[in-house]
Amino acid sequence: MERHRKRGPSTASVHGGEPRVRAGHSLTVPVVLSSTFPFADTAELRAYMDGEQARTPEYGRYGNPTIAAAEAKLAALDGGEAAVLMASGMAAITTTCLAMLRHGAHAVFTADVYRKTRAFATGTLARFGVAVDVVAPELDAIAAALRPETKLLFTELPTNPYLRVVDLAAVVALARSQRIKTIVDATFATPVNLQPLALGADLVVHSTTKYLAGHNDLLGGVVVGRHAMIEAVREQLGTLGGIADPLSAFLLARGLKTLALRLERQNASALALAQALEQHPAVARVWYPMLPSHPDHAIARTLLRGGGAVVTFELHDGLAAGTALVDAVEIPKLAPSLGGVESLIEQPALMSYYELSPEQRAALGIREGLVRLSVGIEDLDDLRDDLLQALDRCAPGR
Ligand code: PLP
Repeated sequence: MERHRKRGPSTASVHGGEPRVRAGHSLTVPVVLSSTFPFADTAELRAYMDGEQARTPEYGRYGNPTIAAAEAKLAALDGGEAAVLMASGMAAITTTCLAMLRHGAHAVFTADVYRKTRAFATGTLARFGVAVDVVAPELDAIAAALRPETKLLFTELPTNPYLRVVDLAAVVALARSQRIKTIVDATFATPVNLQPLALGADLVVHSTTKYLAGHNDLLGGVVVGRHAMIEAVREQLGTLGGIADPLSAFLLARGLKTLALRLERQNASALALAQALEQHPAVARVWYPMLPSHPDHAIARTLLRGGGAVVTFELHDGLAAGTALVDAVEIPKLAPSLGGVESLIEQPALMSYYELSPEQRAALGIREGLVRLSVGIEDLDDLRDDLLQALDRCAPGR
């Protein structure tokens, strides 16, 4: 019998990072609501400050037992040495980039990273003297953008809303050959569908708001990687202050236990719905990485365990048809966000890109007839019936 086989994702999501149970202790980690953590006496204070005694940091901005438990589980799930949890995905992204970049450095971001990540890169980082290039999520475009002073490559996969999948192993190898650190925002992939650290990425970030917490009830973000880099990010976090709160950390650790189970359902349901959408006459095009029609299907099949919950599609009859559909479905709720147990639906043109003109949206590649569906854990037959009845009503002439 194989004794040292790596444990599967469901075992990792339930037990990963959990301390060995001791008789009489709580099975779950309690919510520790304390802003400060006292010392018994000055001798203990000195022992801690001199690094001779390990314990919870002295103050809540530097650490908390509930947060540390969630971090241990997140590190285990991504196969990293350590993790640092923060108040939101954006806190994790901004704090990490600020920890890694200096005035005069150059950073490359791939073009369809989350919109606020791009805004941070081209706005905030640029304002503080970091040169930033935003390039297509393709190996040639990334290679052409690298310079001797490039310190960071930030990419995301699958991307939003077209679920593009860059050849991560090739991108990471390229960056490594030039001593450039790679950060991968794997929010849309989750540790179940993709393990960026195993491919050589330096850091992986997630908005834990999405699949990892999984219940649309909290905001959070995490960065995972090697001890030294995570400690540098944690040091930066201690100054910037975007820390997680213990109650959210508890809910996150609880949600994580069903991550692999939820993903199994979401991967399967989203693929089935993407296939059904492709057959419907009202639908012009569907983007889902596990469909052979997706431009990155070949690489997605080698890289990803599943395509995730998000399916993007375009209706022939544009914005108005999308609105009719979104208003006609009964199960998915009209809301941004993704990855949770409830199905959500939205039109990117009217949600993340509302303030732009159709021409400005077109310049960013955001088509007017686009609809983004995040598939929850409801029964597939109910979701399919609901979507098809709404599509039939929206495009009666087709
Ligand atoms: N990264 C990706 C890919 C996202 O989709 C989002 C949010 O939608 C974020 C980061 C930011 O996460 P948060 O909303 O938790 O700040």
